[in-house]
Amino acid sequence: MAADGGTVTVAVAGSTGSIGTQTLDVVAAEPDRYRVVALGAGGGRLDLLVDQARRTGARVVAVAEEARAPEVAAALPGVDVRAGTDGLASLGAEADVCVNGVVGFAGLHVTLSTLAAGRRLALANKESLIAGGPVVRQVRHTPGAELVPVDSEHCAVHMCLRSGEADGPDRVARVVLTASGGPFRGRTRAELADVTVDDALAHPTWSMGPKITVDSSTLMNKGLEVIEAHELFDVAYDHIEVVVHPQSIVHSMVEFTDGATVAQLSLPDMRLPIGYALAFPDRLAAPFGRIDWTELRRLDFEEPDTEAFPCLGLAYAAGRAGGGAPAWLNAANEVAVQAFLDGAIRWVDIPEVLDDALSRHDGGRPDSAEDVIEVDRRAREVARRLVSERA
Ligand code: NAD
Ligand code: MG
Repeated sequence: MAADGGTVTVAVAGSTGSIGTQTLDVVAAEPDRYRVVALGAGGGRLDLLVDQARRTGARVVAVAEEARAPEVAAALPGVDVRAGTDGLASLGAEADVCVNGVVGFAGLHVTLSTLAAGRRLALANKESLIAGGPVVRQVRHTPGAELVPVDSEHCAVHMCLRSGEADGPDRVARVVLTASGGPFRGRTRAELADVTVDDALAHPTWSMGPKITVDSSTLMNKGLEVIEAHELFDVAYDHIEVVVHPQSIVHSMVEFTDGATVAQLSLPDMRLPIGYALAFPDRLAAPFGRIDWTELRRLDFEEPDTEAFPCLGLAYAAGRAGGGAPAWLNAANEVAVQAFLDGAIRWVDIPEVLDDALSRHDGGRPDSAEDVIEVDRRAREVARRLVSERA
């Protein structure tokens, strides 16, 4: 993969976010090995994007909002500044590996274009894989294309599966995804009635962008990750389980047919999975923190409470329905989470909106990017109506 004089070139979509900034940390830790050549972001913080471009010397910069590209271009003379959805998607062909750290469905084009260009996709943007599943599956066959997960659970499963690489076919019995349980773990449905946005944004173990933090509080993040695991590793839903593990040290596990379980343990720090996706099949030379076994007293595991947190069950239902249902649920979730962050609905309304929205899914089976975009559009329309009925 070292196409550029021994260094691996890196493009970062969503560079100003939590995943994006941590990717730049990882690259900065091994400057002889990795070089950022392209950056892109949207949704504000363009001063940070400009600053990142200057610091890294990126030669291509993409801005999602077309109207704001001129000010970025003026601040970055000599840089190829691109705009809009196509501008952002074009990052995928600019480097050996593209880290997709865009939040939400807006990441779809980056995922598709990186794989279509036959490059490595380091995927944090789970929404694109969940919504675009059938289409992503097709472009993954492009010669040279490679998908390495950045989501910590899937990165863990990726590592665990390598320990069974020499096994015969079908030797994986279960994939067990761990969940921190979020800030509301242990609360009953009644106790969740009036939680606030600030409560939902106070994640106990991970510091992340607002959308995924709210998803973690509802367990929808884990639900989306169940679908993500199905898409990435082609494991049937009956063989994917979720277990709550509040310490966030075991990042996930694979059980093989002989009953052996292989787990991946590390501190909760996304720079490990980001570095893994850059370095695979190698590893980073030095860690961002190590487990102190004299401090780590216990590892707890408990069953998820699917009554207080119905989103997990909704995601399994959408995943099992297949076709456009995951895209439909994902779009409705983005609308509901934004409405909650805007103060338009309560936290407990989120699963109700999603349940209602999913029951209105029309059963379509998208097989092109345009179809997926259409499913997403229709689901948003339905979800916005359901939100306004509750607001
Ligand atoms: P964030 O909100 O911190 O950052 C999002 C980035 O996306 C920003 O750079 C923003 O400029 C960009 N963006 C927003 N809207 C855009 C648009 N319309 N077009 C292009 N770019 C746009 O989010 P995050 O926490 O970094 O999460 C990014 C993705 O990674 C999500 O899919 C999330 O589920 C996944 N992920 C994040 C973490 C984490 O620790 N943060 C862990 C696992 C998975
Ligand atoms: Mg995760």
